[in-house]
Amino acid sequence: MSNKIPVKNIDTKASKDVKTVDLYASREKIYVKEIFGFFQRIRSVSLWLLMGMYFALCWISINGEQLIYFDLPARKFHLFGVTFWPQDFVLLSWLLIICAFGLFFITTLFGRVWCGYTCPQTVWTFIFMWVEEKVEGSRNQRIKMDKAETNRSKVFKKATKHIIWLLISFATGLTFVGYFYPIRELIFDFFTLNSVSDWAYFWVLFFTVATYANAGWLREQVCLYMCPYARFQSVMFDKDTMIVSYNPARGEPRGSRKKSADPAKAGLGDCIDCDMCVQVCPTGIDIRDGLQYECIGCALCIDACDQIMDKMNYPSGLISYSNENSLEGKKSHLVRPKSIGYGLVLSIMIGAVIYTLAARVPLGLDVIKDRGALYQLTGMGKIENSYTLKVMNMAEEERAFTLSVNGMEGMTITTTTEFSVESGEVYSLPTSIEVNPKSMIETNNDIQFIIKAVDDNTITAESDSRFLGPLNY
Ligand code: SF4
Ligand code: SF4
Repeated sequence: MSNKIPVKNIDTKASKDVKTVDLYASREKIYVKEIFGFFQRIRSVSLWLLMGMYFALCWISINGEQLIYFDLPARKFHLFGVTFWPQDFVLLSWLLIICAFGLFFITTLFGRVWCGYTCPQTVWTFIFMWVEEKVEGSRNQRIKMDKAETNRSKVFKKATKHIIWLLISFATGLTFVGYFYPIRELIFDFFTLNSVSDWAYFWVLFFTVATYANAGWLREQVCLYMCPYARFQSVMFDKDTMIVSYNPARGEPRGSRKKSADPAKAGLGDCIDCDMCVQVCPTGIDIRDGLQYECIGCALCIDACDQIMDKMNYPSGLISYSNENSLEGKKSHLVRPKSIGYGLVLSIMIGAVIYTLAARVPLGLDVIKDRGALYQLTGMGKIENSYTLKVMNMAEEERAFTLSVNGMEGMTITTTTEFSVESGEVYSLPTSIEVNPKSMIETNNDIQFIIKAVDDNTITAESDSRFLGPLNY
């Protein structure tokens, strides 16, 4: 065997044609052209709806309780009338897992629709772009203005745009903090400088700056370089996943032509190489280069290309929601083992969380056996065990409870059996139980403490413990 390193001839002419990309190149500003169309209308509805919900939900109250309110000092979260305590964090974790799993499920079926229609980065960026368009004018006007010398009109327009952006950012920051600090009090305290904590000022400022920077300046850079989902979403794609795609079989060879020209005779495909799909793209890519991780699936290029196809009297859909199998002329399947599997697991998880929420009792009980003495003998000749009961009332109001115990014959609770617990309080209840020695069959006996709400006998909690004592006493 030869020890020589294998040598390969390189075609120098071909290597000159290879494009090199400077990974440290400075960002080129993207001037997005405004476009109207079917998918843009869907996104407009989704954007305004989500934005409206974000600003409105913190103002809605049920029985005087904010609909969504994360009360960190009291360590309880209010979500749509249900209060979650630290003990419920497992449920909250499950809700987050379901959201993540739901996102994977949707991605498998429809690609990055989350990014294109509902992601907060997209929602706020599109709102900011809308403001930009209204204040500074169309794409061409903005390019022209940026190249022009500074003048009064330019300064006025730029200042107006940034002031509106800052106002939206400030409203966003204030609303965000309003989910952690009762919004009505926050607004009053904030503007009257009335005992609102420095942290509230800090977080409002933080989210104002973050919104302004992300939606106003960073925009597509967040999707390209900062968002982890953009990096791993492609592993959920397969040949049946619906993605925004250009049909090269129909579009190529691309080239400009007169509207009256017959593309077949001119040896051309349907793409007239007008660049409209690139001009409307918020991440500045050319969808004709194929699937790229930069594509957020916003479908603006579909609307743009459909308009061009209409003008040329060609059928629409040169760029469309499609999948690899369809583009290769093969049969595609929306329902497939992978999507059925995801859907099944998701349904089971949602069902389990709904059941747990429905069966959830706003009451908790822990029993701690006195470790100082295993048992005591009373003056009346009985055997006594002592415990500390921790009763947590997770309801929104104070509640009265009764205590009982079972497990051994003739057990008597010698301490209080009726008590009240404030909302959210963990109440410590010292409890003693006596037993006639003749009832002792074992030295170590299983017993159960039961507490019941006085006003509602469905609200009950049980906890197991032990009763210890000597035999043949
Ligand atoms: S908008 Fe359509 S016709 Fe124009 S360049 Fe893009 S793909 Fe070609
Ligand atoms: S390529 Fe099309 S769908 Fe993808 S980000 Fe650009 S405009 Fe949106």
